[in-house]
Amino acid sequence: MGAMDPRPLTGEPISVELLNTRWIQDGRWQDLLTSPDGLAIWLASPTVVSELGEHPVHADEPTLAALLRARDGLAALLADPADTAAADAVLARGVLRLAASPQGVVERLELDDLAYYPAWTAVRSHLRLIGDRPDRFRKCANEACVLHFFDISKNGTRRWCSMTGCGNRAKASRHYARTRSGRD
Ligand SMILES: [Zn+2]
Repeated sequence: MGAMDPRPLTGEPISVELLNTRWIQDGRWQDLLTSPDGLAIWLASPTVVSELGEHPVHADEPTLAALLRARDGLAALLADPADTAAADAVLARGVLRLAASPQGVVERLELDDLAYYPAWTAVRSHLRLIGDRPDRFRKCANEACVLHFFDISKNGTRRWCSMTGCGNRAKASRHYARTRSGRD
């Protein structure tokens, strides 16, 4: 615990946080989820903590394996929205039961394997996002960047994973192109 988080983008919903555990840095693929140590960093992300809530979650191999299946499932959906098999296989590990309470209906998730809790939650979260706000779930506009984000800006005009990263680079190259053509 307490290790540095190497990811370029955090603070996104849990499903996006899961997708963004893979990124490209200096032309090379990086992956946070190659070990339980990386998983511990991921599980400590504030948005992940808040979406997982009170459930006990362990940074162990079974949880990691389940999350990698969920990540594959999300990647398959991004490549082809009709390719639901891998995402469905993760969702099939849990059953939502409804119960009455003084505050209204309560959903109780029953899992056949508790290690699937973060994976199941991430897949469900993704399907909710693209069901509710499909226009707000986007890939970074930088062709060379593989990060995704969920745009919660008022006007929905976010284009980049971050203004300091890809946004800044795009601005700099536009500026460069302008100065070049001014000189010609
Ligand atoms: Zn980017």
